[in-house]
Amino acid sequence: MSIAYHEPEALDAAVRLLAEIEGARCIAGGQTLVAMLNAGLVEPAALVSLARIPELGAISRAGDGSLRIGAMATHEAIAESPLVARESPLIAGAAGAIAHPPIRSFGTIGGAVAHGDPNADYPAALVAADARVEIVGANGRRAVPAAEFFQDYLTTAVEPGEIVTAVLVPPPPAGVRGRFLKFTRVDGDYATVSVAALLGCEAGACKHIAVALGAVAPRPVRDRDAEIALIGRPPTDQAIAVLGETLAAACDPVDDVRGSAAYRRALVPILVGRAIKSLMQ
Ligand SMILES: Cc1cc2nc3c(=O)[nH]c(=O)nc-3n(C[C@H](O)[C@H](O)[C@H](O)COP(=O)(O)OP(=O)(O)OC[C@H]3O[C@@H](n4cnc5c(N)ncnc54)[C@H](O)[C@@H]3O)c2cc1C
Repeated sequence: MSIAYHEPEALDAAVRLLAEIEGARCIAGGQTLVAMLNAGLVEPAALVSLARIPELGAISRAGDGSLRIGAMATHEAIAESPLVARESPLIAGAAGAIAHPPIRSFGTIGGAVAHGDPNADYPAALVAADARVEIVGANGRRAVPAAEFFQDYLTTAVEPGEIVTAVLVPPPPAGVRGRFLKFTRVDGDYATVSVAALLGCEAGACKHIAVALGAVAPRPVRDRDAEIALIGRPPTDQAIAVLGETLAAACDPVDDVRGSAAYRRALVPILVGRAIKSLMQ
């Protein structure tokens, strides 16, 4: 099978190609797509590379103060960016936790979020950070909250012909710190469970808390009511344990080579406790 390959140098040209060629698909770093092509899981009519569109690779501060990470920014560029380290250690931590250096140097945040794998590392981090995913298509530009973007296993808010152009991470409230914790069988593997946590305390009481889980359901798991219940209260061992147990009950894990559903559920309160306590030190 031969596949036409296009390398547009502007975003509107890429959008046009995707609209004109039925069954065309974008390719970012090819880290997942090439394996899917080799396995015969997808048969696109054409590939539209995003590699030559400079604006998609930029990491910058947006006009509203958000961190704007272009879709073609690699995991390596994100993990090593001083701006990301300063503005969102949580996202930097997730990027640095992905696989191995070769994957991190080619794989992109846009490709990772568009693929929508619930076992991947960004989804939980983006949901905890209240990030938005910017999407451009023939009908214009929109920004979808991460909590709505990740919809189901390999299913996101991206419609056929649309391109993820950036991830927008709002600045966390003053004094809030973030941590991405990934539990794996072996170094470099996908997560058995991942925890993305943000915490800010004032006078010993929780002022801001957000905790999202990855690899334990078809989409990231977060419980805002359980977080709100902690606001204004000290994050005691007991209060954190209640949050961990509530999140464990909300999970819908699978049995696979990285762990049984029961094992994953048992890990959740332990890892949530570790992540939150690390932010209190
Ligand atoms: C061995 C291995 C180990 C890995 N381990 C991890 C891990 O531990 N944690 C983790 O999170 N990930 C892991 N990954 C996945 C890795 O993060 C990839 O970067 C990610 O899957 C996306 O790859 P890519 O950016 O090259 O996108 P591609 O492979 O080029 O594309 C992936 C999919 O997204 C679509 N796409 C790409 N870019 C866009 C865009 N901007 N807009 C719309 N659609 C787009 C493509 O059409 C395709 O369907 C691993 C991958 C491999 C091969």
